[in-house]
Amino acid sequence: MKIGVLALQGAVAEHMRSIQAAGGEPVAIKQPEQLNELGGLIIPGGESTTIGKLMRKYGFMDAIRSFSEAGKPIFGTCAGLIVLADRIEGQEDAHLQLMDMTVARNAFGRQRESFETDLDVIGIDEPIRAVFIRAPLIKGVGRGVEVLSTYHDEIVTARQGHLLVSSYHPELTDDYRLHAYFLGMVKEAAQPAR
Ligand code: GLN
Repeated sequence: MKIGVLALQGAVAEHMRSIQAAGGEPVAIKQPEQLNELGGLIIPGGESTTIGKLMRKYGFMDAIRSFSEAGKPIFGTCAGLIVLADRIEGQEDAHLQLMDMTVARNAFGRQRESFETDLDVIGIDEPIRAVFIRAPLIKGVGRGVEVLSTYHDEIVTARQGHLLVSSYHPELTDDYRLHAYFLGMVKEAAQPAR
């Protein structure tokens, strides 16, 4: 099962390693045409303004929207979550606008810029290890969005059908269960409709 990692900026190699460990076949994506061969796509963490700019520059906006329209799963982590959101607090323009949620960037403030914690996630048996780095928070979600985990009452993992997002970096630990969960979504999406 081929899983692309959008390789414009950010934590690309780490996601490729995690996908491999979870039993998928990772592909670094640098051209929109490469999306055709994929079952699912990961948009990594990094800097969302930069990733957004590069996505526009290299023709990824429409290509990723069509990919999503075809029902192909997308997993956005940290900056990747921001890039998928319909609304970004304090910013006029959002990026892909695929997921019905409002996000706040760098939402933990200076004191807690980066930290690690164990998180309970719906659909995963034991808590997962989560690394937060200048992380965003999901401030509000539409009705079609399922909240999968919270941290101090704030939403940090969510799913809207074939779209999955986390405010933290699951690829920076040796815990591959969220990647395995995403591979499960990709498998499901690849089943012919009954
Ligand atoms: N703070 C970054 C942004 O706003 C996201 C940080 C990350 O991806 N670790 O784009």
